[in-house]
Amino acid sequence: MTRPTVDETHDPARLSWVESANGHPDFPIQNLPLGVFSPVDTDERRIGAAIGDRILDLRAATVAGLIEGAASAVLGDATLNRTMGLGAAERLHLRRQLSKLLSDDTHRSQVEPLLHDTADCTLHLPAAIGDYTDFYVGIRHAENVGKLFRPDNPLLPNYKHVPIGYHGRASSVRASGAPVIRPNGQTKAPDAEAPSFGPAKRLDYELELGVWIGPGNDLGQPIPIERAMDHIAGFCLLNDWSARDLQAWEYQPLGPFLAKNFLSTVSPWVVTIEAMAPFFVAQDPRPEGDPQPLPYLWDEDDQASGALSIELEVHLSSAQMREGGQAPVRLSHGPAANMYWTVGQIVTHHASNGCNLNPGDLLGTGTISAPERDGFGSLIEITRGGADPIRIPGGERTFLQDGDEIALSARAQAPGRVSIGFGSCRGIVQPAPAV
Ligand code: CA
Repeated sequence: MTRPTVDETHDPARLSWVESANGHPDFPIQNLPLGVFSPVDTDERRIGAAIGDRILDLRAATVAGLIEGAASAVLGDATLNRTMGLGAAERLHLRRQLSKLLSDDTHRSQVEPLLHDTADCTLHLPAAIGDYTDFYVGIRHAENVGKLFRPDNPLLPNYKHVPIGYHGRASSVRASGAPVIRPNGQTKAPDAEAPSFGPAKRLDYELELGVWIGPGNDLGQPIPIERAMDHIAGFCLLNDWSARDLQAWEYQPLGPFLAKNFLSTVSPWVVTIEAMAPFFVAQDPRPEGDPQPLPYLWDEDDQASGALSIELEVHLSSAQMREGGQAPVRLSHGPAANMYWTVGQIVTHHASNGCNLNPGDLLGTGTISAPERDGFGSLIEITRGGADPIRIPGGERTFLQDGDEIALSARAQAPGRVSIGFGSCRGIVQPAPAV
């Protein structure tokens, strides 16, 4: 397994001359995530790197001759697809240059004018997403949801043998902040005589991590598990908004469709796999009695260091709470360790039949839930299918109401390391269009 290594760019002692970066919860100099932004009052799309509460314009830095190597040929693009497609060595070379430019004073006078205040900029999707696939590796979530339907047999027999996934819809993935328009759809309550069409009543969120694909594989050429990391460019947060009432009526026999494809929200910054180097940890051992995965999914190095040390959180605020100046309520918190398959295993599985992945493709992990209720990654789990509402200031919730805002957050952490965050992944629910 080729995996990024810890180097001087992760040095906890390294500080930036961009003051807001030092101690920044998300974007200290040890992170340097990549994204696409428009400077104030323009709709031009440029590639940038987040540093504290500012963005370094990488197109301008390249034009100024401050960045060399293969990246300099692609940083003028309006998307990160070609940057993601660079090999790991070239991405690392870029990271080392950015870390140096923003930490030592040598080029400060040239670099400082190329910084923008993030608050003045618009952030976009980082890539033109060719394909989006959502997996189902959060085993606690699979058990919780399975229990609602099959109390005695929550996991189907294939779950521990094959990473379950489905092809999602790339066209409706949006960056954080995009409105969440409540979908209309066809539903049928179990006791109703006939289906009806109208606004979804059981609108939910799903807390997931996203995996951005780097270099692709040719059609017909699988990705060996030992090489899986070479094909990952970075990570983001992903909210797979879900209409549970549409889902229950439409999902058999072919799986999720209109219940899921009306919107998926991602955090706009790509936390590169190189930035994540200190935060790869051992995968939790499989419980006694679980089947050994087939050889194509098994690699000792992947088991030893293919899991992610990331803490995840979800907050909710209603329109009433925001108007009253009340802080959001935390719905859940828990570690990403509750993934039954590693990101390497899902990449390898996806390509195992020869399916080709391309730079800028997006894979979702599936909802990540911790074992206890305060770590559940969706409302259908927290409220047990709507049977057990949660209290929030000024009311209660089973599913999302118009005006509700959901914010996901993530922090990678490891002993002795500067922790890094993923930035914002939020959306506010808007009323459904009239039918
Ligand atoms: Ca999902």
